[in-house]
Amino acid sequence: MNTLLPTSTAGSLPKPSWLAEPEKLWSPWKLSGEELVIGKQDALRIALQEQELAGIDIVGDGEQTRQHFVTTFIENLDGVNFEKRQTVRIRDRYEASVPTVVGPVSRPRSVFVRDAQFLRSQTSQRIKWALPGPMTMVDTLCDEHYQSREALAFEFADIINQEARELEAIGVDIIQLDEPAFNVFFDDVKDWGVACMNRAIQGLRCETAVHVCYGYGIKANTEWKQTLGTEWRQYEELFPHLRHSDVDIISLECHNSRVPLELLELIRGKKVMVGAIDVTSGNIEAPEEVASTLRQALKYVDAEKLYPCTNCGMAPLSRALARGKLNALEAGAAIVRAELAA
Ligand code: ZN
Repeated sequence: MNTLLPTSTAGSLPKPSWLAEPEKLWSPWKLSGEELVIGKQDALRIALQEQELAGIDIVGDGEQTRQHFVTTFIENLDGVNFEKRQTVRIRDRYEASVPTVVGPVSRPRSVFVRDAQFLRSQTSQRIKWALPGPMTMVDTLCDEHYQSREALAFEFADIINQEARELEAIGVDIIQLDEPAFNVFFDDVKDWGVACMNRAIQGLRCETAVHVCYGYGIKANTEWKQTLGTEWRQYEELFPHLRHSDVDIISLECHNSRVPLELLELIRGKKVMVGAIDVTSGNIEAPEEVASTLRQALKYVDAEKLYPCTNCGMAPLSRALARGKLNALEAGAAIVRAELAA
């Protein structure tokens, strides 16, 4: 395990084609019942092995046991009716048919704890587990009960905290909240979003991370990116709030994006997972490209606080492409480690 520039991924990796239709989000499972349970575990073993073979330092489950990073968690809660669907705008970007909050939300049982326990049993490396952030959860639902994004988000924060404490207890080293909605609703972030995130991670002794990106490489996101102009300064609004939050690590999109990296100065002092792999491109980065992004980030992030990572999840990519990108990430990090050691 590298202590300097430890590598990790934002979370998801492609699923094998025998488990779910490849290169697709929300892909339906191809197995059911006990076969599905065993199939998910086998897929997790493969995802883990691919990370370990690539030399990734902080490993995850590749999100092999969930269909979607937000929906799968919500499906396991009470108070949300998945039959009652309504169309809303997600992250102010695209319309989607979403379930409805019809009563008080609660978590009747653990959602991912058994899956995380399985991952823990398969590796002695540090493990990271991702949960959806409260604001992003609220943004994927139609709320007929609380009638307040803030009130619903704080309910979700308590639920996330319950799950996170159980994940910590079984040996998860880093708990990550995925909050792409942070990059859109800046007023909400300022008014209650950061306080809500702090509530979700309160009392945890393991490390905590928040992942804020510009989304998976799907059509709605790439089209939105084209409207953002030549410089993406969304992080500039966000970072002053995150800098003073309780979260330990901030996971960001940096490579090939139009984010001016000097914005990282605004979160100086936090650990940063620097996205050095573009998940929207069909090319495998040359190690030198990865190294170049990391070197730029090093101007604003102290070396002992820099964690090379991917811009976002790689679920929609082909397996060969994702594997190539994992190798490129580690090879690029190795170049910069050698430079730092020299
Ligand atoms: Zn992401």
